[in-house]
Amino acid sequence: MTDFSERRSEIDRARQKKMSELMAEYDKNVYYPAKIALIEDCNKIGHYGGKYQDNGFGWSWYYCSGCGVRYNINGPNGETKHA
Ligand SMILES: [Zn+2]
Repeated sequence: MTDFSERRSEIDRARQKKMSELMAEYDKNVYYPAKIALIEDCNKIGHYGGKYQDNGFGWSWYYCSGCGVRYNINGPNGETKHA
């Protein structure tokens, strides 16, 4: 009997690997710099809105409605991080 789920996973993994290879240069030179600039510009006016998240271990944060970055990150021992 063929394990279709394992076979499907292999096909999908191979595709993802190829996609990563094909996009690596574009991501490095175009995508990531553009995303960083977007986040920096959004941060200048202040991240806003977005969905609240909690990982169940005491960490919580919001995803900015503008740029999508995590912000207002709070830890279980009073830690705070800002995007
Ligand atoms: Zn933002």
